[in-house]
Amino acid sequence: MAMTFDHCTDLRAPMVQRILKWGHGLILVTFLITSGVLPGCKRREVTRETPQMNVDDQYWIRVRLHRRMTQCWVKTSQTVKVTSGQAKPVTVSVPKVGLALAIAGQGVTLGGQAFDANEIDICPDKPYVFRVDDEPYRGRLRVVVNQGNDTFDLINEVPLEAYLAGVVGSEMPTYWEPEALKTQAVVARTYCLYIKQRFGQNRHWDVSKTQAHQMYRGMDAESAQVWEAVLGTYGRIIKTQDMDGEEVTFPAYYSSVCGGHTENSKNVFGDSYMSLQGVPCPYCQHVAKLGQFFWPMAVFDKTEISDRLVKRYSSLERIAPIVHIEPEGPSENGEYARLTRVRLIGQNGQSDTLRAEDFRLSIDPSGRIIKSTMCRLEDWEDQWAFVAGRGWGHGVGLCQCGAQWLARQGRSYQEVLHYYFPKSKLEQLY
Ligand SMILES: [Zn+2]
Repeated sequence: MAMTFDHCTDLRAPMVQRILKWGHGLILVTFLITSGVLPGCKRREVTRETPQMNVDDQYWIRVRLHRRMTQCWVKTSQTVKVTSGQAKPVTVSVPKVGLALAIAGQGVTLGGQAFDANEIDICPDKPYVFRVDDEPYRGRLRVVVNQGNDTFDLINEVPLEAYLAGVVGSEMPTYWEPEALKTQAVVARTYCLYIKQRFGQNRHWDVSKTQAHQMYRGMDAESAQVWEAVLGTYGRIIKTQDMDGEEVTFPAYYSSVCGGHTENSKNVFGDSYMSLQGVPCPYCQHVAKLGQFFWPMAVFDKTEISDRLVKRYSSLERIAPIVHIEPEGPSENGEYARLTRVRLIGQNGQSDTLRAEDFRLSIDPSGRIIKSTMCRLEDWEDQWAFVAGRGWGHGVGLCQCGAQWLARQGRSYQEVLHYYFPKSKLEQLY
């Protein structure tokens, strides 16, 4: 089990030897250890116990880890309690190599033992950590057998705070300012509770582990700084008013670099909240890497754009090939305006419209080439060019690079939240 941390690896040894040769070795090594450059060298740390294992169901997050699997390995330290259907929980001891989990019959087998049920819960002992094919997670593992009994989905059921420990370090560099990391923790907590409440009711999971919701890498994303940010904002979310003046949990969106002004959510995702109206952000340009704040252009062949759009939206087949694209209603932020919608016109004269953000991500699903919709669309005969681009990401809600800049200037996470989500209120959940 690699669930204890030992950072005194051979990789670091040559560096230490070089420092010793420099003559001030002892002082330097002491400094490096105490300053955290060589963390963990003082002693082996025991795995932190997963918090909140007794918290209410409403604060458990069900993360879809893998879909349509036929087998995998589950590892943990001693035993697991397995609950399936109405049967009493069964304790299964786990050998060092782990237990093979495989589809079989009307359910699955775990370590050769059959569990005939559609849903099986696997709960490890304290400190409630386990590995699935070497990916480390906290909480419990739920196996959901798909119709036809030939594959299963794997869901990580994890208490909210432990979930966040796997998100914050996946969504923001862990060496950033503590107040920026805290801002990220509150925003991620708010966003995932909103998604759970809004979409979790009708499916057996709440969020995916990808950028479709929030990046979640389980314990691989944890660090001392991340835990400090999570526990330093324990149970805190932000609330806002909807357009009827009612106080609600809302999708506290965030993106990397807003490009100079955050965007009204209505123009990007179509939802309207008091705290998602868009604010000036003269801050992210100080933090964003070269090519993230300004990106000169991205060029695609017209046929390729048409093909990619039709591949993503089969309803566009009726107008394909798409020969003309007209941007509609750029947002109102002057030089920071974004494309909000595009009208797609087919060779047959028929047309359809798409949100600009969906248009961008259909052409470039990575989001790394056409980095944002804060750009101009130009017709270059056989090609479409996205020119004079600014920013990276959808630009709604928190600007992560802006938050880092404000934190560097000594602003607290409460101030940063208030800036990017005006009129929002902090609330303590538990
Ligand atoms: Zn910004």
